[in-house]
Amino acid sequence: MNTDIVKILLIEDEIADADWLDEILVEQDHPTVEIEHVKRLKEAVVSLSQNNFDAILLDLSLPDSKGLEGIAKIKEKAPNTAIIVLTYLNDQNIAIEALRQGVQDYLIKGKITRELLIRSILYAIERQKAEVKVRQDALMKEMLDRIRQSLDLKEILDSTVVEIRRFLATDRVLFYRCEANSTGEIIAESIKPKEEQDLSTQSMMNSIDFFELHSLLAQSDNIQAIEDVIAAPHEDVYFLAEHQIRSVLTLAIWRSSIVTESLDASNYLYNEIEENFLPANLVSTDNYRENTEINRSCSSKITDSEITNSEKQNSTRLWGMLVAHNFQTPRKWQDWEFDFLEKLTIQITIAIQQSELYRKLQDVNQQLEKLAILDGLTGVANRRYFDRILHNEWQRLAREQKPLSLILCDIDYFKLYNDTYGHPAGDRCLQAVAKVLKTSTKRPADLVARYGGEEFAIILPDTNTQGALFVANEIRRNLAQLKLVHKKSAISQHITLSIGITTQIPLPKASPHHLIAQTDNLLYQAKRQGRDCIAINDPNQTT
Ligand code: GH3
Ligand code: MG
Ligand code: MG
Repeated sequence: MNTDIVKILLIEDEIADADWLDEILVEQDHPTVEIEHVKRLKEAVVSLSQNNFDAILLDLSLPDSKGLEGIAKIKEKAPNTAIIVLTYLNDQNIAIEALRQGVQDYLIKGKITRELLIRSILYAIERQKAEVKVRQDALMKEMLDRIRQSLDLKEILDSTVVEIRRFLATDRVLFYRCEANSTGEIIAESIKPKEEQDLSTQSMMNSIDFFELHSLLAQSDNIQAIEDVIAAPHEDVYFLAEHQIRSVLTLAIWRSSIVTESLDASNYLYNEIEENFLPANLVSTDNYRENTEINRSCSSKITDSEITNSEKQNSTRLWGMLVAHNFQTPRKWQDWEFDFLEKLTIQITIAIQQSELYRKLQDVNQQLEKLAILDGLTGVANRRYFDRILHNEWQRLAREQKPLSLILCDIDYFKLYNDTYGHPAGDRCLQAVAKVLKTSTKRPADLVARYGGEEFAIILPDTNTQGALFVANEIRRNLAQLKLVHKKSAISQHITLSIGITTQIPLPKASPHHLIAQTDNLLYQAKRQGRDCIAINDPNQTT
């Protein structure tokens, strides 16, 4: 508010009352009072869309509004403007109710002096300003708390749009995320419920249209505010009216240099892990990379290549924008609203930074977790993880009294294979066998592990002897199909496996050690029997 000029909207249908008020207020030397006079609530609503006022003088008996109902309508339109009721209704209960609904004062016509009125208006304006400040601070504090408590950016943005829309008393507030390839999407929005809108909205501006708005913004300042799209001096914003945007405010959200640098650091860490520690075949063959890529793209839509050198030099790039708009009515945007939103977007930037870093960290943690349980050469589970899962399944199936099958298999004459084809070829052979084991086990609970050297173990929960035998035969069949040449093998021209199988319904107090020892014995029984065969704890089923 310019302290020398007080702008007042007078909503009064009685000409005599209006004239009197006009007279005593305009005669005033300091501050200078400017009055806009309307006679109906409907006209007041229009006027509030087009102008900012410091205070509103509201008569409670208007042709189109009686009693307190007018207060709610005015409050909704101008939630941050001081309202003073002027009425002949000298009723204390109604006066208190009016104050509860947010008016700053309740004055009885005929009992007002000029001094009293001026003082009431000025005090009301100050009180209203203090109230707005308290609400602003509360909203900012809520935002800060949420940012501290939540690392979920979507959750932060979703609740922020709702609060900003209510605070600005506007029809729609949204966050638009700019993509590097000249597109973007709405990632959070709050729209005034249809029943509360003045007119129905048929074609809502969507993500694609917003790109045009974004292009306009990119060429301009941080904040763009258009009171009335139709009356705007620049034709390039007229398209907004086609999308039922009558009045709009956009605010750029920049990614600060801190974000870029921090992301660079976490990308570096990520790449280091990927290059130096991840099993080679995992990176190229498993769906592991696919998953990782998905994780990475979810965590941050901005990839390294998108952050160009020049952008790094400039230290900032447009992350997106905050858009607030009215569908049908023009709206005056105020300086303090800009200030408030600018402060708010600084917090949003912090939230973006935090959540992006957190997601990156989660990715890295996921990689580390995988590293801890997988065998580096073959990509199947390692011995440590095998021990853990066998123990867990043993306990679970002991409770459920269901069978647990264990397969141990060992490559035949593998030392000879290494000696013949070299150690690197031996490694590739181990990878190929591991892959056969993985593809031959179909159930999600089945686990293939590298038990040691050229020996693999397979845990088959809730699987009986017949089931385990079926899996073992599948393994043999799939391996035979691969025809991995092993000329020095005494049993075949190709790589073969000797297999031991045990099935047991676990006893709650026993441990799985016995199961392992028994299966190991059977594996060596298969070796003794000439290799390339299966030994099973049911003697009738030995093949
Ligand atoms: P058997 O048919 O009785 O199982 O004979 P074998 O030669 O397969 O068994 P042995 O235990 O004598 O030899 C195992 C070989 O497996 C010796 C070792 O060099 C090789 N081996 C163990 N781990 C690896 C590995 O990671 N890579 C390669 N290339 N070879 C390995
Ligand atoms: Mg062997
Ligand atoms: Mg061996």
